[in-house]
Amino acid sequence: MKYKEVNAEIIGIGSELLLGHIVNTNARYLSRQLSKIGVDVFRQAVVGDNAQRIKDAVETALERADIVITTGGLGPTVDDITVKSITDSMGRALVLDEKILGSIKRFFKERSLKMHDYVIKQAYVPEKSISIRNPVGTAPGIIIEYGQKTIVVLPGPPRELIPIFEKYVTQYLSDKYHLNTTIFTRTIRTVGVPESHINRRIKKYLAMRRPVTVGIYARINEVDIKITAKAKSERGAVRKIKKVENELLKILGDMVYGFDDDSLESVVAEKFRRKGLRLSVAESCTGGLISSRITDVPGSSRYFERGYVTYSNRSKVTELGVKETLLKKCGAVSRRVAIAMAEGAMVKSGSEVALAVTGIAGPSGGTKEKPVGLVHIAMATKGKTISVERRFLASRQDFKRMVSNAALDILRKQC
Ligand code: ATP
Ligand code: MG
Repeated sequence: MKYKEVNAEIIGIGSELLLGHIVNTNARYLSRQLSKIGVDVFRQAVVGDNAQRIKDAVETALERADIVITTGGLGPTVDDITVKSITDSMGRALVLDEKILGSIKRFFKERSLKMHDYVIKQAYVPEKSISIRNPVGTAPGIIIEYGQKTIVVLPGPPRELIPIFEKYVTQYLSDKYHLNTTIFTRTIRTVGVPESHINRRIKKYLAMRRPVTVGIYARINEVDIKITAKAKSERGAVRKIKKVENELLKILGDMVYGFDDDSLESVVAEKFRRKGLRLSVAESCTGGLISSRITDVPGSSRYFERGYVTYSNRSKVTELGVKETLLKKCGAVSRRVAIAMAEGAMVKSGSEVALAVTGIAGPSGGTKEKPVGLVHIAMATKGKTISVERRFLASRQDFKRMVSNAALDILRKQC
């Protein structure tokens, strides 16, 4: 059967977007979701909170596209004019939706908040439209049917837009357009290997064309490899992807730490839970980032014992028992101090595994022997301590992220 081709355009509404104050993550999110249900996004646009320009943008998009989705400008304030502008341009009237008004009233009551009259504006929707209750806010989503075409009006805040889109809009579009293709993506996550290196090794795959394509996406010392396939069902797409995935996994080996929504910290968490080990972390140059990432994972209390942020030399001595003489002799950023920090953390905390990092984030503080970006990472377990030396040249924030990646990668590989 031939795939049914349905296309969409996305219009972000908000002067904040034009001024560069916020990033248009809604467009990215919607494009991704639409591709999953087989809708091609042909254009994305952004307009300010201006009635004429909103009208123009929606009308032009509607001439070309089957589906037009707008985001933003549904709030109760005077500059939120999306609904009125679109309703006017469709030549329809605004009517009060009693159900939506009821849910807005409940929203305020449940939170013991006083409801101002101007909020009632959000219960007005174009006549002959479908309004969708907003589970986390007051502005409803709106679907305006325009013959075979559809306008979807969504609130700006992602935490409001996402549930409305996922719970209602995708189903609506699938039903109306009999969508029978899906685009499915599998992400392979790697850490610690440069993009160019991976590029070289999987070159052949990057040249593949439909139905399966492979792409590379670099992050901060991580590289994602995305395998995408188009098929009539998710099962069909997964089958096509699996073959390529297995071949890539053979090539990439232990560079791969996980898939899809996995993070280094979630993979490490899984390992510690499975093995029943407890972990402590002593951090200098990462300032607590490693502990923070570990505790981002639900259930981390089961394996995470404690984190020390020992930034000063004194705290390395008093908290971890690092010898002052050692600090004097080798300096805080040294292999031996990293080892002493890890072993000290293990002894003081009583956990089976302890990790330590010490480094020079820069921009100043480097010397010829110990340049900016130098970092020592150590991991202590009963009977064995290992250490590695790395160098990361980046902004302070990226440096911290890179060090935390390298440290978590050691836990993933060595525990
Ligand atoms: P509200 O009721 O909160 O006013 P709204 O529907 O009127 O919602 P806007 O006023 O346009 O939406 O935007 C509110 C907030 O939502 C913005 O400050 C921003 O944080 C977020 N937001 C809006 N548009 C986008 C977008 N395209 N991508 C990501 N975030 C957005
Ligand atoms: Mg607003």
